[in-house]
Amino acid sequence: MAPDAAHWFADVPPARRRRLTASRRVAPARIRKGGRVLWDFGSNDYLGLSWHPALREAAKGALAEGPLGSGASRYVAGDDPAWHALEAELAGWKGYEAALVAGSGMLLNIGLLQALAARHDVIFADRLVHASLIDGARLSGARLVRYRHLRLDELAALLARTPARRRVIVTDGVFSMDGDCADVGGLLTLAEEYDAIVVLDDAHGLGVIGPGGRGLAASAGAAGHARLVEIGTFGKALGGYGAFVLGPKAFIEGLRQRLRTAIYSTMPPPLLAHAMLRALALVQEGALVHALHERIRTFQQLAAAKGRPATDTAIQPWVLGEDEAALAAARRLEAQGFFVPAIRPPTVPEGTARLRISLSAAHPLEVVQALVEALPA
Ligand SMILES: *Cc1c(COP(=O)(O)O)cnc(C)c1O
Repeated sequence: MAPDAAHWFADVPPARRRRLTASRRVAPARIRKGGRVLWDFGSNDYLGLSWHPALREAAKGALAEGPLGSGASRYVAGDDPAWHALEAELAGWKGYEAALVAGSGMLLNIGLLQALAARHDVIFADRLVHASLIDGARLSGARLVRYRHLRLDELAALLARTPARRRVIVTDGVFSMDGDCADVGGLLTLAEEYDAIVVLDDAHGLGVIGPGGRGLAASAGAAGHARLVEIGTFGKALGGYGAFVLGPKAFIEGLRQRLRTAIYSTMPPPLLAHAMLRALALVQEGALVHALHERIRTFQQLAAAKGRPATDTAIQPWVLGEDEAALAAARRLEAQGFFVPAIRPPTVPEGTARLRISLSAAHPLEVVQALVEALPA
């Protein structure tokens, strides 16, 4: 007998259920969970911009003069001029010819890969790319070929032996669960050799690494490359919500005609465009990126003293192995006043359950020090 709705998802094992417990971010880097206020090492608010008075003022100003919702897809009535200003600012700062803003990164990636490839094309993706890119690749109907994490030798071999009408190489910039980085220069060399394009999703690199926080492609001197398409999001270091794609002008114009997840979706509230323009100006002032780097350096030094590796990014994985070890460590840290999420399979490979620490310019330095002291060896 077929299950009814109440039994439809009964096959998810109880130990692997994802729990949703209401929590509220109550102040910069502070989160209220289960009646207690903790230091928040779980948000991707790397520069503390989600709390910045200038962003909140910009949003309030937009609300005082305009609607909350944008009312429709951009292609119908939801195309506030602030989005165009934001796109121009993004393209200029990031060093690309053009930009296109859409809903969330999840929406953008699904629509982008669906638009980029079709049957007879091949999408080559790093094994650890974000789920949104995999879902988009599947929806495209193209063949999806995964290569081992960061293994460009394996990618080269796959490119050499996989015939395709068109080829798309897909990677995260800074990887979201490991905080390590793609080799953008190496990927572009392969793209040139095999007539491919590279889609670089740098959601975690923007505002964090590269000159002035311009991200991984900028640090590799690759921004604006003719074979490079870059994705960024507003929900992480920029403290808002939404996403954008950067590339050659003709590419972006073509994508506007094909991006179903923008054409058939309500544009995000215009107040976000106003706030994100302020966020870009603040990142360019430099002080926030500098403060984040100070915290990353402090974390690196203290982790090294404990014999642990650390990344050059805001994401610091603290791998503990079994699910229960990671869950127990997260509970102990919570008792000491720190919220650090435990990440388990299937989000990460079996046997690599971990704490995922997100550093932010909003963390006082002493709090970063206290956290590392409290982390298990
Ligand atoms: C967070 C993230 C996304 C999704 O972006 P949202 O705006 O949160 O939907 C996409 N790609 C990567 C690499 C991410 O880290």
